[in-house]
Amino acid sequence: MDRRSALKLIAGAGLGMGAAPLVSARTPSLDQPPNFVPADISPRRIIRQVVGLRPFREQGYVVRAERFDRRKTLVHHYGHGGAGVTMSWGTAVEAERALLAATNERSVAVLGCGVIGLTTALLLRRRGMDVTIYADALPPHTTSNIAGAVWGPSSLYRRHAVDEAFVERFVTAARVSQRAFQHYANDPRYGVYWLRQYDFSLRTPEGERTPSVLDDLYPGLIRHTDPDRWFGYPSVVENHVLMIDPDIYLRALMGDFENAGGRIVTARFEDARDISRLSERVIVNCTGLGARELFGDDELRPMAGQLTMLLPQPELDYAYSAFEGGILYMFPRKGSVVLGGTTDLDVADTVPSAEETARQLEGHARIARRLAGLERVGG
Ligand SMILES: Cc1cc2nc3c(=O)[nH]c(=O)nc-3n(C[C@H](O)[C@H](O)[C@H](O)COP(=O)(O)OP(=O)(O)OC[C@H]3O[C@@H](n4cnc5c(N)ncnc54)[C@H](O)[C@@H]3O)c2cc1C
Repeated sequence: MDRRSALKLIAGAGLGMGAAPLVSARTPSLDQPPNFVPADISPRRIIRQVVGLRPFREQGYVVRAERFDRRKTLVHHYGHGGAGVTMSWGTAVEAERALLAATNERSVAVLGCGVIGLTTALLLRRRGMDVTIYADALPPHTTSNIAGAVWGPSSLYRRHAVDEAFVERFVTAARVSQRAFQHYANDPRYGVYWLRQYDFSLRTPEGERTPSVLDDLYPGLIRHTDPDRWFGYPSVVENHVLMIDPDIYLRALMGDFENAGGRIVTARFEDARDISRLSERVIVNCTGLGARELFGDDELRPMAGQLTMLLPQPELDYAYSAFEGGILYMFPRKGSVVLGGTTDLDVADTVPSAEETARQLEGHARIARRLAGLERVGG
């Protein structure tokens, strides 16, 4: 969700610099905010609080094929940090390519039934392969169900830890993935939809906004720099973003996979020996954070995120993020209003913190008062 960090990462990669922006940031002469219906933020409206652990690697996600158990092929596909839903179709295409380059076998075991396992399994099944998913947790009980699932590649890697080749792969995969989600937005069964989004910033902008190579994936991008009109915020970036409601989307993907003849088996693997007992000659590892224990990847680290779900408010038709001493983001879904968010690296505690809930409620209530015109930044 913290899209500004993602843009900074990409901008820092030098990819956007010097190139003509695909969509230019502009300040229209009539820079008037729309009528924002304020979110109704109150502890009485809380329906659920949840903490999920993002499978984060500074070095970015892993897609790699190797030999396993002498005659088998193991394709790793995990480590998507805070962007697993966002990247799922793009990196599944990478995983499929790695598999096809490594083996001609057609019988595949996919380990994991989060968004990465399901997407990969569906793609391979549509290639005509015989695919079985094995997983301990199925939707709605996966980390993927906890995802805010705002389309945006954030908390995916650290720029200092990856090379240019990785960044190029990442940009290609992000584009492939976003294009795939655009098609789902045309079908209400998948819970994918476009929403107006605002990044509210307390910082006065220095010069023109640096364009990013992924700007065109956020249509209608405008930067507003008139604090008098925009509730006192020195900079507001407006655009449109794809939202994915994971409960609806993952259930629909499971249905697509099973209707296409794929099988799903509930199973827990304690170690590699358990996996070697599977009859399939090709194994795709989509176990998310589980890959740390199962395959000994110490570079994979939990990054905790807490969300607070409020009763739905159907009249809300926008999302926002802000950084005000910590990240705050809000977006509406059919069944809830979602408040976030935290990105606590190396925290593996999944018990919601009352302190964080209070921070979110206070911060979002403050923003709601501003959007209602009752208060301004700094006053
Ligand atoms: C608060 C929060 C907000 C987020 N917001 C966004 C967002 O806005 N956009 C976005 O794109 N992403 C977001 N994410 C990140 C996203 O949730 C993850 O990147 C994604 O869920 C990773 O998917 P996965 O399939 O790899 O892992 P998971 O969903 O964790 O699935 C792993 C699967 O592997 C199985 N498994 C693991 N170990 C074993 C084992 N030993 N034996 C058997 N099965 C095993 C599990 O049971 C499960 O089925 C967010 C995450 C959090 C926590």
